[in-house]
Amino acid sequence: MSQAMEFKIIEAESTFLHPRTGFEPESVRFEVRIDPLTGRTGHYSHFGAIKPQRLDLEHYKRPEVMGFCPFCLDKRDKVTPKFTTHIYPEGRPSLGEAMLIPNLFPYDIYSGVVIMADGHVLSLEQLNRKILQDAFTLGIGFLKKIKTLSPSIPYHLMTWNYMPPSGGGLVHPHQQYFATACPGNQFIDELRASEGFYRAHGKDYWSALIDGERDAGKRYAGNVGASHWLIPFVCLGILGDVMCIFPDVYSIEDFQDRHIDDLVGGLCRVFEYYRTEGIMSFNASLLFGPEGQRYFPCHLRISARTFLNMRDFAPDLNFFQAILGEPVCVTMPEDLCKDVGKFF
Ligand SMILES: [Zn+2]
Repeated sequence: MSQAMEFKIIEAESTFLHPRTGFEPESVRFEVRIDPLTGRTGHYSHFGAIKPQRLDLEHYKRPEVMGFCPFCLDKRDKVTPKFTTHIYPEGRPSLGEAMLIPNLFPYDIYSGVVIMADGHVLSLEQLNRKILQDAFTLGIGFLKKIKTLSPSIPYHLMTWNYMPPSGGGLVHPHQQYFATACPGNQFIDELRASEGFYRAHGKDYWSALIDGERDAGKRYAGNVGASHWLIPFVCLGILGDVMCIFPDVYSIEDFQDRHIDDLVGGLCRVFEYYRTEGIMSFNASLLFGPEGQRYFPCHLRISARTFLNMRDFAPDLNFFQAILGEPVCVTMPEDLCKDVGKFF
């Protein structure tokens, strides 16, 4: 592992008199890890205490539960917006079942939503290669078009909430694509730290990370074509994250059809892992840095989500994430990698 990259772990334990062992003293271990790029911390504790909760997908299809879905085929034409003619003369471009529309609640000047499929509810199994390929191809094409129309907007993103535990307001599968100068704190922290690393060490942190993690073999799951899949040292989600890095893609123009193939191929493997584990919800983001730099390659993070229980649907985020801005994860990245790696 590169000397420039430090994987720092602060280990500690807390001792108390445990009620289950007749109030004998018991020590419980926890860790705080420091991200080698950003210096941000993350807690690892509560090991094994949180299991992904099963969602009843049939429930979401019942008319009384569905309510009004603007993305369903019988409503879509009437209630979803169209692009202005200088962006897309056809209004709402489509590819296979995927359809691109402007976001009625835009995140920035150019803000699109890809409705991924005709069906209101798609299981992870139904999010197959064809559905994913068409959605990403349409969405990436939109980001490239924005780059041509407004080259000064520096950052391009795909973001995705899948199923209610992820915070998604609509069950109908969809992704957001937008360009912005304000891509969020995590993005900017990573970008600035990547530039700092490049200036200090004369190399791209992310490529160095791939090499180091592949050699170490503890958090590297595998590659699919030009994409490299690994578990972050500091995960943001409570059930852990999977990250994919494209070391030869620095900005949106570099992302070609073959990269979409690799992305889809890897995602299908992550979904197979999710299905094995009973994970039914996630957040994902695909980030593209500004044109001209060679230190911030495109990367995807996918973070499993769950309700804590199905009694009162407690979310898996609490004061730690909401107020302290601190991720908490109940799975060690090295253990997660052993399980995810079986699918690569
Ligand atoms: Zn729908």
